[in-house]
Amino acid sequence: MPPMIDATHDPRLRSWVSGADDHGDFPIQNLPLGMFSPPQATPRAGVAIGDHILDLKAAAQAGLIVNECAALAAGASDGLNALLAAGSAVRADLRAQLSRLLEAGSPKRAAAEPMLHAQADCTLHLPARIGDYTDFYVGIHHATNIGKLFRPDNPLLPNYKYVPIGYHGRASSIRPSGAPVRRPVGQQSGGDSGPVFGPCKRLDYELEMGVWIGSGNPLGEPIDIARAPDAIAGLSLLNDWSARDIQAWEYQPLGPFLSKSFLSTVSPWIVTAEALAPFRIAQPARPEGDPAPLPYLLDEADQAGGAFAIMLEAFISTARMRQEGIAPHLLSRGPASNMYWTVAQMVAHHSVNGCNLQSGDLLGTGTISAPTRDGFGSLMELSSGGKEPVALPTGESRSFLEDGDRISLRGVMEASGYRSIGFGACDGIVEPVR
Ligand code: MN
Repeated sequence: MPPMIDATHDPRLRSWVSGADDHGDFPIQNLPLGMFSPPQATPRAGVAIGDHILDLKAAAQAGLIVNECAALAAGASDGLNALLAAGSAVRADLRAQLSRLLEAGSPKRAAAEPMLHAQADCTLHLPARIGDYTDFYVGIHHATNIGKLFRPDNPLLPNYKYVPIGYHGRASSIRPSGAPVRRPVGQQSGGDSGPVFGPCKRLDYELEMGVWIGSGNPLGEPIDIARAPDAIAGLSLLNDWSARDIQAWEYQPLGPFLSKSFLSTVSPWIVTAEALAPFRIAQPARPEGDPAPLPYLLDEADQAGGAFAIMLEAFISTARMRQEGIAPHLLSRGPASNMYWTVAQMVAHHSVNGCNLQSGDLLGTGTISAPTRDGFGSLMELSSGGKEPVALPTGESRSFLEDGDRISLRGVMEASGYRSIGFGACDGIVEPVR
């Protein structure tokens, strides 16, 4: 069962934390979880509220939050894995307590206020130790666009509408928002004379969401589609930086390798499955003539409420734009519902062979593109493989990323009658080859 809507989602709730009520991402209705270090202090669990972070370790030690969730939050020193593994009921208890603690008029305000830190003064870490990272390919318009570049007559391979396609990515090189993106070097096709070796010339971003696994499954015991929502702790934004020239030369026959593993960026706050309850929507109906999902991927409740009302955006800001004070340029905007498979289907498929998912594992959705150019989630698509550069307000243009370019992803959850919430920043600036 997905988490339910409760008093913590009430749009009338206000917080005593200055600025939180007007915050685009982190009003009191969100309460996303992460790991941070206050100035001169060790990493610990925190919850984002407005431009501030409440220290959950301090709050638990002072008895401002109690129960199992408080003990798990206080014990988190290198990731929220144990808290995520405890499941929805424990996270919901923490959320309810934090909502009351941070609500305007809370009698505990005076005790909690010293445990607040300005986010700008803190270091944000990955929210969990990521044991494994798998990137899917469920953005059907992205898959079609990329397929067209290689196979104009037959863009989608025959397995696409049966199998949630994915590959095992690299967990060790995932970094939180703000980490520099060093341009990779590697082999690229050089035509008849063999490969060339050097800096990537076709560096790209991919607009994706990350799915955090909460409670996993023992080896050999698949997660049934009906139970898959219980395994999902929450979502973040994910930028799967991609070296297209390295990718084109290496990807056959076993898929992407060094073209992806040099770095991936996540937004450091986990927007919990509980916070997302009001934003669940029906999975869009498949086009006429498409096959129904196989029974192990089909669940009535998942089809009725397994997608999310999230608007995704990507912005670029070149070094010159920042020098000249020009605002970031919107590259694309489109809804997360452009996914051919739900996150529950991703989890059910990933584990159907008995593969054990573990708390803190990260699943990428794959690039989420809209059907039209204003919603394409990578430069490969926006520039038609480099043939039609994107024009920028400075007169510059981009087919692929240049050194100094910053890509910023944004995601906002929107539902009528509810306060909008967001993911926070998922940014990276491209740095030259060392
Ligand atoms: Mn990807």
